[in-house]
Amino acid sequence: MSGCDKAGRRERILRAAVEQGLLEPEKAVLAGFIDLDAVNDTVTSLRSAFPASLRVLHAFAAKANCLVPVLAELRRSGMGCEVASAGELGQALEAGFDPAHIVFDSPAKSRAELALALDLGIAVNADSFQELTRLDGLLASRSSASRIGVRVNPQVGGGAISAMSTATATSKFGVPLEDEGNGELLLQAYRDRPWLTWVHTHVGSQGCPLELMARGVAKAVAFAEKVNDSLGHRQVTGIDIGGGLPVDFGSDETSPGFGTYVDALREHVPALFSGAYEIVTEFGRSVMAKNGFTAAYVEYTKTVGGRPVAITHAGAQVATRTVFAPDAWPVRIEAHDRRGRAKSSRPVPQDVAGPCCFAGDLLARGRTLPLLEPEDIVVVPDTGAYYFSTPFHYNSLPEPAVHGARTDAHGQVAFRLLRPAQAAHPGPVPTAR
Ligand SMILES: *Cc1c(COP(=O)(O)O)cnc(C)c1O
Repeated sequence: MSGCDKAGRRERILRAAVEQGLLEPEKAVLAGFIDLDAVNDTVTSLRSAFPASLRVLHAFAAKANCLVPVLAELRRSGMGCEVASAGELGQALEAGFDPAHIVFDSPAKSRAELALALDLGIAVNADSFQELTRLDGLLASRSSASRIGVRVNPQVGGGAISAMSTATATSKFGVPLEDEGNGELLLQAYRDRPWLTWVHTHVGSQGCPLELMARGVAKAVAFAEKVNDSLGHRQVTGIDIGGGLPVDFGSDETSPGFGTYVDALREHVPALFSGAYEIVTEFGRSVMAKNGFTAAYVEYTKTVGGRPVAITHAGAQVATRTVFAPDAWPVRIEAHDRRGRAKSSRPVPQDVAGPCCFAGDLLARGRTLPLLEPEDIVVVPDTGAYYFSTPFHYNSLPEPAVHGARTDAHGQVAFRLLRPAQAAHPGPVPTAR
C-alpha cells in the first residue's frame, strides 16, 4: 500500500467515525482508532518474512497494546503473546491465548507470579541468577510444562534512544554475557539445570539499528551453541530473539520491513536458520504502531507571542512519551475539518497543544500545518502502539474510547468498540442555582 493510500484510508475511517457519532464536540472529543484490516496485513507480512520450514512463534509484546480485544484479534491471526507483568498475563489469558503460546518476561517476577506461570505451562525467561535460584525452589515441588530460558544481555551497545536500549554494558535487563566470569557461571547454570532449554535476548526498541539487533541475537545464539557443545547434546532447543523492530514515525512508509530484519539476521546469525532451533519473536511496536491513529477535536485557538496555538484534547494523557521526550518521539499531525476531511489551506507554523495543565503539554512545536480552528480535528498517525492504549491519568483525564475499524469491499467502514471511554469522575455535582 502506498503512503497516499494510507492517508486516504485514515481519512475514510475518520469521516466514517464522525458520521457515525464516534467523534462529536462536547461528547466524544478524543478517541483512538485501530485499522483491524491493516493489523491482519501486518501479521501476515511478519509471518511470511520467516521461512515456513522453521518453527516460529510470533509472540506479540502486550505492553505495546494491551487491550484485550486487540490481543484476541492478534491471537486469531496466529500470534502468541509476550507479557511482562501479572496484569498483562491476565489480559493475555482473557484474550484466549493458549498458555503454551504465552511468554513471561519481566525483571521483577514475584514467587507467586512464577508459580502461576509454571503451573499454567507459560514460558518463562529468567532475568537473573537470583531468579534461577527462585525457580529451583519452585520446581522442587512441582512439575511444569513451561519451557524455561535465561535472558542474556549481549552488551553490544545502545541505539539512538538510551531509555529504549537494553543491551548496553550496564542495562538492568538480563544476565550480562561479557562481565568477568559470567559466561562460565551461566554455562554452569545450564549444566546444573537440564530444564533450561531456551536462550532469550531483546536488544532494545525504537532507535536500535538492525545490525545492532542482529549482532545481539548472534551473541545469544553463540552462547546457545557453546552450551550445547560443552554439554555434548542439544539441551538448548530454542532462541527467543525479542522484538524491537523500529517504525518510521516520519512518513507512511513501513520501513524497515520484517523481511529486511530477517535478511540482517540471516547475514549475522545463519545458525538461527539451521533448523536446529525453535524461534520466538516478541515484536510490539512494529505490529501495531502504524495501524492506529488518535483523533481529537480542537477546542480553542489563540495567538501567543505571534505564534498560533491550537488547544486540542490530545496531550500527555495519550501521547506521554512525545510530550515528555519530544526529541526522541516526534509524531506527525494532520489537520482535518469538523467532518473529518483533510484541510488543504496554506500551511503555517503553529503549536499543537493538549488539555493538560502544564506548559510542556504539546504534541508539536512550530509545526507547519493548515491553520487549525475550533472544532477542527487533529489526527496523530502511528499511535497504535504505546499511545492511547496505555493512557496516563494526569489531571484525572479519562481514558478515551478505542474503536476498531474494518472496511468492506465497497469502502464502507464498520466499527467495533475495543475499549469504552472512561466516564469522567462523577463526584458530587453541585446543582446550578
Ligand atoms: C518491549 C519489549 C518487547 C517489544 O519491543 P518493541 O520495540 O515494541 O517491538 C519485546 N521483548 C521485550 C522483552 C520487551 O521488553
